Amino acid sequence: MRSIHKSLSLMLLVIALLVSSVTHASSTSKVVTVVTTIAPIANIIQNVGSNYVNVIAIVPSGTDSHTFEPTPSIAKLLGVADIIMVNGLDLELPTVKLAEKVKKPGTPIVMLGNKTLDRKDWQYDFSFPRQHGHPNPHLWPNIALSIRYAEIIRDSLIALDPVNKAGYIANTEVYLANLDELDNAIFDCIKSIPEKNRKLVTYHDSFAYFAPRYGLKIVAAVQPSNFSEPRPREVIKIIKQIKKENVAAIFGSEVFPSKVMRYIALETGVKFIDQLSDDELPLPPNNSFIGMMANNLTVMTDALGGDSGCMKNVNSNALVH
Ligand SMILES: [Zn+2]
Repeated sequence: MRSIHKSLSLMLLVIALLVSSVTHASSTSKVVTVVTTIAPIANIIQNVGSNYVNVIAIVPSGTDSHTFEPTPSIAKLLGVADIIMVNGLDLELPTVKLAEKVKKPGTPIVMLGNKTLDRKDWQYDFSFPRQHGHPNPHLWPNIALSIRYAEIIRDSLIALDPVNKAGYIANTEVYLANLDELDNAIFDCIKSIPEKNRKLVTYHDSFAYFAPRYGLKIVAAVQPSNFSEPRPREVIKIIKQIKKENVAAIFGSEVFPSKVMRYIALETGVKFIDQLSDDELPLPPNNSFIGMMANNLTVMTDALGGDSGCMKNVNSNALVH
């Protein structure tokens, strides 16, 4: 049942993306088929490539991208791609392996994260320990880094489709202005939070690159490296840290339901908010990467005692043009 549901939602997602992009396509030039993985990256590509690309995101919304295994129907999608764009930093290893086998010979695979950040700046932590060799891959919630993603996407599309160079440059300029606005708004949100509350405890460890940029301290991420629940010894340690640091709230996400978070909240008496997201977009009309980050910041800022009005001028439309 679950797999039927998943393939159905994948089909709907693919159809929706095809319809939304192809209808805008210019009739004189060939549309570039971009196959990508997670929804936030798909949305960045749609904005940069608007009018010229057809974006297919293969990880269905609401699916855990870290444990996602591509199915045979996904091999077919990878096989028709003109370009494949993934986050990289080991997030989509099974998909990249399959892509190398089934893609058309000339189709490039662009690893956005690996092109954005030098290996020396990769982060390892409790959920992504150095001894396992896989870094924390969540670069995109840090807007300085997602701006780099947009620029790399622009340059990769221009290399593949030079006829539409001016269009990609114009699209990217508009989109980067919106990302800049989001970036400034995030700084405003965090500034509105009392300094003693600028601390994060999350279940899923997706804010490791976000926190240092905006001045938050990560006290703990609860999810262990095998993506199961933590052991009692680890839970006790986290409860002690939360009490010692006087943390105001702890955060979960709908993609990673956790009984442990409720237990930790009960034991420490702090608020538990279950609404952060790192790869599931909000519902329309805010079904965009910017909309997802605006939601995250609204939730976070409210719970930590700040003023979430900081997000009111951000453009959360799926396409910003
Ligand atoms: Zn994640």
